[in-house]
Amino acid sequence: MNEDAMPDFRYHPDPRLTGSVEVSDTSCVVCGAARGLIYVGPVYAVEEYVEEICPWCIADGTAAAKLDAEFTDVGWGVPDGVQAFGEQPWFLRRPHT
Ligand SMILES: [Zn+2]
Repeated sequence: MNEDAMPDFRYHPDPRLTGSVEVSDTSCVVCGAARGLIYVGPVYAVEEYVEEICPWCIADGTAAAKLDAEFTDVGWGVPDGVQAFGEQPWFLRRPHT
């Protein structure tokens, strides 16, 4: 398994192409890792998070759960009622440590 591959956004197949994810060595505010890519799209949360969340944390739902945030850009084109990030609820996945 290639952990450095982009996570799979079912409804946003190529976030880099649309400019939602950029190459960056910023550390993710959720997992603390600098994995080379950072989400730069809109974040709707109580706190402000600007370019400090990695796409992996968004894809597996960790960012949404931890920060109580929504990422509408990642969910672009998502039909109503469908969870935008990943295919499984975040609590069914366990982050790799
Ligand atoms: Zn992260």
